[in-house]
Amino acid sequence: MKTLKRFVLVGAPASGKGTQAHFLAEKFGLETLSTGALLRHEIETDSELGKQAASYMGKAMLVPDEIVNGIVRNWMATHTEKGWLLDGYPRTLAQAEALEADLAALGMPLDVVVWLDVTHELIEARMLRRRECSSCGYITRDGENTCPSCGGIMKTRGDDNPEAFARRRKDYERLTEPVARYFLDKGQAVHISVTEEGEPEDVFLRMKHALEDFAKNN
Ligand code: ADP
Repeated sequence: MKTLKRFVLVGAPASGKGTQAHFLAEKFGLETLSTGALLRHEIETDSELGKQAASYMGKAMLVPDEIVNGIVRNWMATHTEKGWLLDGYPRTLAQAEALEADLAALGMPLDVVVWLDVTHELIEARMLRRRECSSCGYITRDGENTCPSCGGIMKTRGDDNPEAFARRRKDYERLTEPVARYFLDKGQAVHISVTEEGEPEDVFLRMKHALEDFAKNN
């Protein structure tokens, strides 16, 4: 029975990856590194790194591998004891190779890659129903026009910027899915396929069972 301590979570934009990352962190007692959140924080604080990342993120482009690899390498070097989860990294095969080299140098194995594979149709349907309050940021999933929290006006995420979303989706299919397949082929990943809308808790339950099986068989 393998003890799962170091996780990578792969999933498309709007796949519900953030929610599942939260559940996984709770269940397995992990610290999470979200490269997207970290980069946004760097931009907000106007750091040198933030300045470099901003021009790419502003265009919904991936930040260059060297920059992101460096961030994750530094973070891992200070997180060698506790279990962790990487959310949003690796996103390219070059990043996956860098991660494997860095882990080998630190003498730490990667225990499992979780691939949250949500169909494109489902993600599109979600985007159409998803609303975000223009006043307080509250998010709903059922197409409300008025914010249940503050009464503000709800707007769709998709309408905000369909081009940016389409670009992120394309990058995911072209660059990130091969990462998931790479680890799957090596027997290092669990594949959670989501084809119908349901509760995030139910997706997590399936994920938990798949991880228990994976731990037993490895
Ligand atoms: P999403 O999953 O909706 O794309 P994220 O918060 O994961 O949102 O990422 C936001 C942005 O941060 C990405 O569009 C990209 O510009 C940048 N980013 C995050 N992680 C990486 C990564 N591993 N490699 C390159 N760019 C990244």
